[in-house]
Amino acid sequence: MTTTEQPFLKNALAGVLALEPYSPGMPIDELQRRLGLSDVIKLASNENPLGPSGKVKAALAEHAASGNVSLYPDGGGFRLKKKISEFHDIDSSRITLGNGSNDLLEFIARVFLGPGRKALFSEYCFAVYPLATLAQNAEAIVAKALPADHPTMPFGHDLEALAAALTPDVSVVMIANPNNPTGTWVEPGPLEAFIAQVPASTLVVLDEAYIEYFDPSLKPDSRAWLDRYPNLVITRTFSKTYGLAGLRAGYALSHPSVADLLNRVRQPFNLNMLALLAAEVALGDQEHVAKAVELNRTEMARIKAEFAALGLSVLPSQANFLTFNLGRDAAPIHKGLLERGVIVRPMASYGMPTWLRVSIGTAAENTRFLTALKAALAA
Ligand SMILES: *Cc1c(COP(=O)(O)O)cnc(C)c1O
Repeated sequence: MTTTEQPFLKNALAGVLALEPYSPGMPIDELQRRLGLSDVIKLASNENPLGPSGKVKAALAEHAASGNVSLYPDGGGFRLKKKISEFHDIDSSRITLGNGSNDLLEFIARVFLGPGRKALFSEYCFAVYPLATLAQNAEAIVAKALPADHPTMPFGHDLEALAAALTPDVSVVMIANPNNPTGTWVEPGPLEAFIAQVPASTLVVLDEAYIEYFDPSLKPDSRAWLDRYPNLVITRTFSKTYGLAGLRAGYALSHPSVADLLNRVRQPFNLNMLALLAAEVALGDQEHVAKAVELNRTEMARIKAEFAALGLSVLPSQANFLTFNLGRDAAPIHKGLLERGVIVRPMASYGMPTWLRVSIGTAAENTRFLTALKAALAA
């Protein structure tokens, strides 16, 4: 549609008119409809292949049986915030709840970005950062990533490049650690050193969607940083390790004054009652989280070994997915996997057309993926 067809379109924000919509991992239903397949697996959006914990399922079933959906949920999220507050030993006034952590990224953009403002992030960063920035008509500054032939962290965030781009007029800098779509990470020491030299007037958003998967030796104690750097905002999600992607729940930890502002732009009932309940129960079941992390560790090692045997290079990953290089246009392989009922994530929209990203599934799912991949490569 052009603005000449419908004159009102000229009043849409330029940033919105220019932005490429987010392309999510294909839903299982869609592939079933498209290709008439019945048996489809999805390894495209980094969900927990074990699903939510048994305690969460029981709590949801009990709530569903009660039929209680006619009353509004607790808009303040008292119980969930109390649980988060205990979990992180942090005051509730420093917590903001989000309908997924995506919601929080948008609150941050709405409060701190806008026309004439700048957001800074790295090449190959999470696609939502430029989206949230452009939707506010703000300017995106993109720092170069580490080069493809970097010896230890190809395509990873380059903290020096980010620091060099950090002029005092940057309102927000956003870093995911580990990063999606690459799985790459920055080590705790250099990351804290980076945060320490960010101007006090710039907000640092540290997106820890995959923090639970970190090898313990690489996991930052970012909670402690919150007390040292009042301009730090940490976002967490229940979508990945906790297995609640379908319910939408996440939270931000920040200085109370930031939380106060974020809460002002939040829809009063942004988390539904099932999301509030499930998140509260999920946070209390760390055994389930440990199980998911352990499954991920062993299965990732197995897939990496198979990739090596196939001669496929793979990015270093501390998350629950692997981004691997076909060494040629990945689109036909992506299509070949779809035809075999396996959904993975193409990387062309990230400017990596020879790469694909696969989430680590259950052992059976991963075996099916590897079999399909070998068949697609041979076809
Ligand atoms: C998946 C993901 C999120 C979480 O999104 P939700 O809205 O919480 O489901 C946030 N950041 C990154 C980098 C992610 O990959």
